Amino acid sequence: MASIEPFPEPIYVTRPILPDLQAFYLKLNAIWAAKQLTNNGPQLKILEEKLLQKLKVPNLSLLNNGTTALMLACKSLELAGEVITTPFTFAATPHVLTWNNLTPVFCDIDPISLNIDPKKIEACITPQTRAILGVHVFGTPCDVFKIQNIADRHGLRVIYDAAHAFGVEINGKGIGTFGDISMFSFHATKLFHTAEGGALAYNDHNLKQYINLLRNFGIKNEEEVILPGINGKMNEIQAALGLVILDGIDREMSKRKDIADKYQQCFTGTDGINCMMLNDVSIKPNYQNFVIRIDQQRFGMSRDDVYDELKKYNIYTRKYFYPLCSNYGNYTELPSSKAGNLPIANKIAGEVLSLPFYGDLSLDSVEKICLILTGMKK
Ligand SMILES: *Cc1c(COP(=O)(O)O)cnc(C)c1O
Repeated sequence: MASIEPFPEPIYVTRPILPDLQAFYLKLNAIWAAKQLTNNGPQLKILEEKLLQKLKVPNLSLLNNGTTALMLACKSLELAGEVITTPFTFAATPHVLTWNNLTPVFCDIDPISLNIDPKKIEACITPQTRAILGVHVFGTPCDVFKIQNIADRHGLRVIYDAAHAFGVEINGKGIGTFGDISMFSFHATKLFHTAEGGALAYNDHNLKQYINLLRNFGIKNEEEVILPGINGKMNEIQAALGLVILDGIDREMSKRKDIADKYQQCFTGTDGINCMMLNDVSIKPNYQNFVIRIDQQRFGMSRDDVYDELKKYNIYTRKYFYPLCSNYGNYTELPSSKAGNLPIANKIAGEVLSLPFYGDLSLDSVEKICLILTGMKK
């Protein structure tokens, strides 16, 4: 191919939204005036109210990060035994089960959605199974209807790791209204963020008091501590940052939509590169990630080689989610971790690549990344 110069500055897979400092400063001023930095303060209450609306959920509790949120989700449902989940996710998903003394049972994934395959869930159910923990990977919803149907027939709870799914809707319903509890992560790498932060959304309003006790050491009042909670509180500075970022979130999403469209357009016709984009009118996407699959046979180059080659051009992509959780040292002994049990997940973990994707990435840069990538085809 004609020689293309590397980018002068590194291009990373994502960049956090950094809101207008002046707007953030005004919020900090309000915090200073109130002299309250944490413990269910005014900024947190405003953010909770605004996110209820944005996420279209009936109940929401804010927490200090998504992992703590998922920990408390498992605690609040008082689970003990096995939980069926996906190996194609971030480390936090199965680790949270382990920290709750629950046993993860890995179920294979669907090759299109990259989410837990409902057709394979029932074979994972044993007398010890208590719940299904699905992950809406890259913001693509799990098959929530089939999963709920299986759960209802077997008396199981349903938890969703919706860390990637901020703002996603199915038929106009907030993604957080499906299942018993959904966790959102507000880590800086996520679309909407509070630097670190998270939330739980749930339909049963009776859970609110329990979750809010769990996030504050189980302290009911000055005289009574009624259960062994932990510190899961979001502080006022996190909440204030979230409020300023929330104001610009629709703009960020629309810029990302343009970038996603550009990538898709550029890759059309390149045999061996598949864009993992939804094509379902019932789903409102959120543009959390832009992910391709590289078919080594057809493209003539492996995902790993493409990843290495892109670095030479100052482009830093990520192999989300490789390695699979089932291949982490501490999970390989589980019977469900055997590669033969997870053929699709093991294949796909070797093909996926997350490309640079954030609102401030220029369309010219996207075009150049595409040219470099498609130019590698053999
Ligand atoms: C980011 C992420 C988490 C963890 O969230 P934190 O807010 O970083 O604790 C959990 N699950 C998935 C799938 C994630 O991507």
